[in-house]
Amino acid sequence: MKGQIVIDPKVPREALYQSFAGQPGPCPKCGSELHMMAQTYMVATREGDRLADSFIIGGDFGWFCQSCPVVVINMVKVGEMLSISRHASRSGSRTHPPAA
Ligand SMILES: [Zn+2]
Repeated sequence: MKGQIVIDPKVPREALYQSFAGQPGPCPKCGSELHMMAQTYMVATREGDRLADSFIIGGDFGWFCQSCPVVVINMVKVGEMLSISRHASRSGSRTHPPAA
């Protein structure tokens, strides 16, 4: 049954960050096949050693290894999503000006 890989989102995983277009290729750790799965991620940004912002995003930028607890994150896609949400919040504040 090809295509019936079950990835358990409860398993803690090591996140490896890569920038690629299309497919990441085999797992950088063990060389097994990676499977793209839409998941939800907690993202935290830092300014220096201070936590600046934290939020939850969902998307199809994670590639899960079927053999070891590794997820390869496509930073190209994450960057696209973050710039889209930044634009959205900026235009949102323009369309809802404070009442005069
Ligand atoms: Zn692996």
